[in-house]
Amino acid sequence: MMPASSKKKFVMRPVRRAKPAPARAAKPDLRVRDAEQFLLPTYKRQPVLFTHGKGCYVFDSTGKKYLDFLGGIAVNALGHAHPRIVKVIRREAARAVHLSNLFHNQFQGPLARKLAECSGLDRVFFTNSGTEAIDGAMKLARLCGRAENDAPNSPAKKYRFLALENSFHGRTFGAISVTATEKYRAPFAPVVPGVDFVRFNDIADLESKFDDTVCAILLETIQGEGGVHPVTASFWDRARALATQHGALLIADEIQCGLGRTGRYFAYQKFPSKPDIVLVAKPLAAGLPLGAILTSEAVATRVSPGLHGTTFGGGPLACATALEFLNILEDEKLLKNISARGAELREGLLALAKKFPFIREVRGEGLIAGVELFVDGGPFVAEAMRRGLLINCTHDFTLRLLPPFLITRAQVKEFLRLFEQVLAAIPQSASQSGPGKSAAPQKLAHAIAR
Ligand code: PLP
Repeated sequence: MMPASSKKKFVMRPVRRAKPAPARAAKPDLRVRDAEQFLLPTYKRQPVLFTHGKGCYVFDSTGKKYLDFLGGIAVNALGHAHPRIVKVIRREAARAVHLSNLFHNQFQGPLARKLAECSGLDRVFFTNSGTEAIDGAMKLARLCGRAENDAPNSPAKKYRFLALENSFHGRTFGAISVTATEKYRAPFAPVVPGVDFVRFNDIADLESKFDDTVCAILLETIQGEGGVHPVTASFWDRARALATQHGALLIADEIQCGLGRTGRYFAYQKFPSKPDIVLVAKPLAAGLPLGAILTSEAVATRVSPGLHGTTFGGGPLACATALEFLNILEDEKLLKNISARGAELREGLLALAKKFPFIREVRGEGLIAGVELFVDGGPFVAEAMRRGLLINCTHDFTLRLLPPFLITRAQVKEFLRLFEQVLAAIPQSASQSGPGKSAAPQKLAHAIAR
């Protein structure tokens, strides 16, 4: 418990509402001007400045309200300002934000236990991001790929990684090496050597590339950035069997699709077999940066102190918040809500697909959905924003929906109503710039190949 005197200092202040935009043209926002002048131009940001959120809604600096069906790209699973999350962050911020991995803190152990229980795996390493979890897992795979009695500097015989075409695993060197999309990888070549890409869900291609030199196959159980594409049960089973046969690891990247998004703790839990390593991040600490590598005891036995580490990963504030996130998932029966709302969303999207012929396919599970179009998705995202709805477009033609887990039935209806207006508002001429006509035939070919 916090002493009464310190509690006084942390009284909740009402959220300051931004003034509505004046009728005449507003002056350029100085905060946006600073961002444009001083930030590295790594993002093409929308010309909007968000100030705060509440539940499934966010508000911009003019006071405009948006229904948030992007959720900070799968991070804000509990929406914004969930009272229990706010309470834990206030409480722990007043106690210890950071201690050091040279010591134990109160929350790392219990959080690791909970993640082990949910996943069926045994050991956990905490990171600060998804990409750092990917790089850590790649290091573990290389470690497991060398014989235990190998000299530390001898090259491993089992060193290759298999990854899937259309994958996205992050931005650090290891992660871009296993990310198929050229634009993320090619400008930084040479990347980590020894990576081969397998055609998505193509078992014959997988078999042809697997041999004893492979130390791991790494895959997103549902590809997120690549356009919401789930791996098939038969591909998963074959990857599991080949990994076991060749003494390689099966690594599931559930950074976007894990921790409840599908209505199960992990997307792979619909398959009968488990991976050797699972990676999570995005929603884990309800918006604070935290990721994790979950692994089997067999992998863990290869690790000894000093082989891997992090300064910030697993700090008390982030871990306390993550524990609360998992408790809320349980207490508010959110997995059930995700499945129920996900089914309503899917039904509504399929109905819209019948109405709008430029919708090519609806994919996904639970509260990760992809609506692939025959036309460029960009104008639909802009129109959605104009109407107070946040979505995004990935791989040019797929509108991606990642709403918070606590979305209500009424909010799904609200979304479907707004989304229908958005689909109807874009003139059919937009379809003339679609992939079939000019923009990116190779991308449509890729989509059709699925
Ligand atoms: N893996 C997947 C499937 C992702 O979707 C992402 C991010 O979008 C990453 C890895 C990288 O995570 P981070 O951005 O936290 O480094």
